[in-house]
Amino acid sequence: MPATAFSTLPLSPATLANLDRLGYREMTAIQAASLPPALLGKDLIAQAKTGSGKTAAFALALLANLNPRRFAVQSLVLCPTRELADQVTAEVRRLARAEDNTKVVTLTGGVPLRGQLTTLEHGAHVVVGTPGRVLDHLERGSLRLDALNTLVLDEADRMLDMGFLDDIAKVVKQCPPQRQTLLFSATYPEGIARLAARFMREPVTVKVAAQH
Ligand code: ADP
Ligand code: MG
Repeated sequence: MPATAFSTLPLSPATLANLDRLGYREMTAIQAASLPPALLGKDLIAQAKTGSGKTAAFALALLANLNPRRFAVQSLVLCPTRELADQVTAEVRRLARAEDNTKVVTLTGGVPLRGQLTTLEHGAHVVVGTPGRVLDHLERGSLRLDALNTLVLDEADRMLDMGFLDDIAKVVKQCPPQRQTLLFSATYPEGIARLAARFMREPVTVKVAAQH
């Protein structure tokens, strides 16, 4: 069995069968580097270029922490844009086991609040959103994060470039301190190190260098 087979990971048979059905036969380099520490529950900083499969890496980690019988928001993924949030939502839904009925909700700006409020009233396991809109829901009381176990900062470099640091800090303040935090980024500017020092606990850093 190659070292990059998903079956080397502590994933359930149903999840492995689902990956196979999706045509995900082998892990990409960043998945092979980040999934073992992430599945051990460690905080993680993962850096790899766009298109390297970072979404599935954090999606499998947050789904492994999820109890589908507990109907509360257990994972939050913050993304820089609505388009990226929609892509992440689609990937998490694909990777979730059908029998778990995992409810994934997208909360981004540029979409009327009313529909999001109604959706949240019906409950969710996973929230994927942009920092401003997620904060808006936290301040309205329409979203609670007290049952959160996994926080993902996706495209962290872009979120910093777009000026989301203050909103991210306010959202993190409402997350339980004993959560797992996973940070994914294509580049590693100084701001990422400061973000990690502020919001993460002894993070493991993995980096996949660009191929030449
Ligand atoms: P990134 O977030 O690093 O830019 P994505 O998560 O969007 O990259 O993944 C890029 C593409 O690779 C997606 O179309 C995804 O479905 C596909 N992909 C991810 N992991 C695998 C895998 N292990 N095997 C095959 N395809 C994969
Ligand atoms: Mg990505």
